[in-house]
Amino acid sequence: MYYVPDGTDRCGYYECEECGSRFLDLRIGPALVCPYCGEEPDMEIGPDEKMPVLKENAKLVQMLTDEEEIEKYDKLLSLAVTGGDYNWI
Ligand SMILES: [Zn+2]
Repeated sequence: MYYVPDGTDRCGYYECEECGSRFLDLRIGPALVCPYCGEEPDMEIGPDEKMPVLKENAKLVQMLTDEEEIEKYDKLLSLAVTGGDYNWI
């Protein structure tokens, strides 16, 4: 599995409105900060520094609650990311 651990039977399928990335995440919510174009909050940030603006661009498309379905999506999405069979040369 590429996005979620083996045996995951519940996760969210997200699509980012900003960069178009699609991914699976164990966190389930209406929207997440995109792992590709967004930034996770930096807890080390000093009080004088500006807080980075976090946009939750990745919207929940679908909730997946079936292990086989999740495996299928995970495979398809990771193939799209890595280029799949088109990169065999
Ligand atoms: Zn994005």
